[in-house]
Amino acid sequence: MKARDDGKAYAQDVTLEELGDFLGMHDLNKAGCQYCGGKEWDLPAHEDKPVIIKLPTPSNHPDGINAFFMSCANCGRMETFLTQTVVSRLMGWD
Ligand SMILES: [Zn+2]
Repeated sequence: MKARDDGKAYAQDVTLEELGDFLGMHDLNKAGCQYCGGKEWDLPAHEDKPVIIKLPTPSNHPDGINAFFMSCANCGRMETFLTQTVVSRLMGWD
């Protein structure tokens, strides 16, 4: 992924393919579901981009934190990944 003209990288710019790359980087897509052992994960998308969810964290981040998620195709268990971390890894910032 690329930074925008302001030099920042935005979670909204991450593509499904890039999120797939991130998951593959860490073999997360090969990890079985902890609940049912299912091996197939769905990456929910909206307008061809991964869906970003906002988790409320009232005591430290009033605006909450953003996460990508994948869900087990069998039981629906969701695994969440902080958008901040995904973007940093994709940008090679660590
Ligand atoms: Zn499952």
